[in-house]
Amino acid sequence: MTLDDAMNFAVAQGWQKFRGEQVWRWVHGKGVRSFDEMTNLAKPVRAELANIASIGGLTVGEIQTSKDGTRRLRLVTREGRSIETVLIPDGERKEKLTQCISSQIGCAVDCQFCATAKLGLERNLDAGEIVDQVYLARRLLAEVDPERRITNIVYMGMGEPLHNYDNLIKSLSILTDDKGLGLSQRRITVSTSGLVPKLERLGNETVRPNLAVSLNAPNDTVRDMIMPINRKWNIGKLLAALKAYPLEQRRRITFEYVLLAGVNDSITDAGQLAKLLRGVKCKVNVIPYNPHPEAAYTRPAKHVIDAFQNECKRLGLPTYLRTPRGDDIDAACGQLANRVDGSPIVPLRIRKGPPPAPPVD
Ligand code: SAH
Ligand code: SF4
Repeated sequence: MTLDDAMNFAVAQGWQKFRGEQVWRWVHGKGVRSFDEMTNLAKPVRAELANIASIGGLTVGEIQTSKDGTRRLRLVTREGRSIETVLIPDGERKEKLTQCISSQIGCAVDCQFCATAKLGLERNLDAGEIVDQVYLARRLLAEVDPERRITNIVYMGMGEPLHNYDNLIKSLSILTDDKGLGLSQRRITVSTSGLVPKLERLGNETVRPNLAVSLNAPNDTVRDMIMPINRKWNIGKLLAALKAYPLEQRRRITFEYVLLAGVNDSITDAGQLAKLLRGVKCKVNVIPYNPHPEAAYTRPAKHVIDAFQNECKRLGLPTYLRTPRGDDIDAACGQLANRVDGSPIVPLRIRKGPPPAPPVD
């Protein structure tokens, strides 16, 4: 529930509106997980609440810690499905800690290089399940590393956030509410494979997070091949929507570019990319492909990665290298697939017939 939902809920129970706010602050501000902890509510009210409501949609399945300090949390939904969230401490700045959260169980977009794609889509997470990933991680941190706080949130875990639009918006408004966690929208980034109509809608919302777009190719020929969604919304349509996106001052769009050996990593590709993005307020995050058994791609050699990045920079495109974090525990970009100890991925839905057409919205 958003704060407004909680107040309406209170009124529907015949209570004062303010009681809804009290409960909401306990859950989203203080992070309590039982009504009994709500000490400013009378005991009978707490008991009644426990009868008609519940807090938190997820439970902690298991926690793995990478040798670089990244933690992967497997969280379990009410029906016993698993999703994943990753806590990534900044290597240099101790005060920065980014949490990568999931928006769906699986994903329907079918990017050829992504492990999550191999699961297929089971369902959308509801807004409660999206924010609960943050609250559970916050609890864990308080236990294991009380000095650290979650400072940044990225919607870059399992799933395509813009395919789960309403819950995305609801979760953003909850996480940024001053009466709850009060995260600044500047510290939240939503990453998308490029659902053009939803990008247009996002530009009109009151909460506007940073935008990351998985471009991954310098032209439609390559993008069609590795991201089927491009056959529906090609690079031209995508860039037109991004150019029209009302960016706030001093903000720029991040383009993610997964480098796949021999596919999109040549000097010519770098040149095409720089030309394509000329005039767009942006930066590029180059992500060397993180290998997993379900895709046949390989990571380019170090000198190829460096040459690609240098060529982009030489042509005036701000380009950064995203060093893989947590790859020893399958927690790096594109590796989230509920895998246990290197076991193969079990699809959530068995696919019959040819691969699905790109999603329509
Ligand atoms: N669905 C959203 C957010 C989740 S994917 C999106 O696609 O943007 C997060 C990022 O991981 C994307 O930029 C994607 O291109 C990248 N990614 C997927 N598989 C990868 C892999 N095997 N290695 C490196 N990055 C990968
Ligand atoms: Fe889905 Fe993103 Fe993976 Fe593509 S890269 S399949 S959109 S999670």
